[in-house]
Amino acid sequence: MSSDMLSAGFEVHIEALKAICGPKGSITDATEMVGFVTEWRDKYVGETPIVLMPSTTQQVADIIRYCNEHQITVVPQGGNTGLVGGGIPGLGNTLEVLLSTKRLNLSVNISKDDSTLTCGAGCIIQQLQDAADRENFLFPLSLASDGSCTAGGVVSTNAGGMHVIRYGTVRDFLVGVEAVLPDGSIINELSPLKKDNTGYRLSPLIAGAEGTLGIVTKASFRLSPKERTHATGWLAVPSIEAALELLFLAKNQLGNIISVFEVMHRDAIGFVLKHMDGARNPLCENPAWSILIEIASNNESDDIANMLENVLTAALEADVIMDGAIAQSDQQRSAFWSLRENISEAQKLEGGSIKHDISVPIAKIPAFVHEATVAIEAMFPASRVTPFGHLGDGNLHFNVMQPEHGNKDDFLAGWEEMNKLVHDIVVAYGGSISAEHGIGIMKREELERTKGKAELQAMRAIKQALDPKGIMNPRCLF
Ligand code: FAD
Repeated sequence: MSSDMLSAGFEVHIEALKAICGPKGSITDATEMVGFVTEWRDKYVGETPIVLMPSTTQQVADIIRYCNEHQITVVPQGGNTGLVGGGIPGLGNTLEVLLSTKRLNLSVNISKDDSTLTCGAGCIIQQLQDAADRENFLFPLSLASDGSCTAGGVVSTNAGGMHVIRYGTVRDFLVGVEAVLPDGSIINELSPLKKDNTGYRLSPLIAGAEGTLGIVTKASFRLSPKERTHATGWLAVPSIEAALELLFLAKNQLGNIISVFEVMHRDAIGFVLKHMDGARNPLCENPAWSILIEIASNNESDDIANMLENVLTAALEADVIMDGAIAQSDQQRSAFWSLRENISEAQKLEGGSIKHDISVPIAKIPAFVHEATVAIEAMFPASRVTPFGHLGDGNLHFNVMQPEHGNKDDFLAGWEEMNKLVHDIVVAYGGSISAEHGIGIMKREELERTKGKAELQAMRAIKQALDPKGIMNPRCLF
């Protein structure tokens, strides 16, 4: 923390906040803070006078009440895997304390009767997946960051991931949250009641609020029956139109047992094959587009491999797919999955890329891809458009890689300009400029530019009503 930012008066607050968290409940050493103030992609590096790590809801409430009284702004952070800078404090020389939920990780309770899992906000998603699995349930969220991201984080960003096509985003299977509001009061909506029409429900509002309306301290999720058998295919399609045709054909024949339907541009897979140790293409050639499809059944005796094979045969006969492989072992299944999951890492190794996490109505994906590609190639010659993502949800990570032998910094300097170009096309197609990752700091101006005036006004009114002093993550969203 630069000394000019930290006035002598603020030292008093630091001591008071430290005292609330008790021994081992805070960090003030700059070296120890590095991991907390640096974003996963190094795009944002912030600073803070103190990282607070409360271990109980009451400590969180005491911190927030204190900060409210003294008008100290608070940035909440879970696993710090967010991709829009929403959990990084002190960007732009503002004095903000960081509240990490890392120590709110002790309780994980599964109610078999209610099919729910309730946990502390700091619990890691992989830990919740494993706990659910041990009790023969499925925790219905799967994302490449699940070894680090937290329950509170996925609620606050309404995370999506690989299984949205079947189970929805977090808001769809969130029972409710316990949260500390910006005045320090505690709300509890963890009850598993299916029916409760007693006025406004705050949990769906806090889900996706990116820490601007309070701190999630606990969350309860509805579990799904365990997926007991899987059939996983890696398929080659000649065009994005064919990818969509395959999706419709598969949906038509398989209904809601499709758990994953991912599409990947040739270059996205090319980067994985080039940069990641042990990566191998399951097919002879790297096609224009690859598809990862997985179907799953809760019933062990269902012959779902046969069901997938029937769909693939129909697709081959209709010239929708050109080639395909079905995983014959768990090892092959994870090899398919890692090709998909390693794309972000491989892109990083390939060079600079400008990201667009967008969604448009599914049927409009091909038209969008063509129009946006032409527009980018015209304005940014030699850049490489390499989209991939959750086609089953109409959500693409429409990423654009720097020219092969170009300069990374020169290319990344065009980030805002390219975002505007792509987002305008997204809006024209009735889509969203942030399908999964949220707004954070990165997309504030774009939200302002592209969202309806009435919607923005209503959002601001909610923020003002719950947080009139603007202490909760005030630079995020607006
Ligand atoms: P953080 O990054 O710590 O915080 C995210 C936001 O939530 C911040 O605004 C923060 O202030 C707020 N916040 C965190 N905890 C709380 C809390 N307890 N109370 C109030 N506010 C809080 N996202 C997807 O949706 N789908 C994907 O497929 C996906 N894949 C990813 C793959 C990789 C490799 C990476 C690095 C990220 C990916 N993400 C994905 C983004 C990210 O993992 C999610 O946004 C995740 O939900 C963030 O959780 P977190 O615990 O790391 O939150």
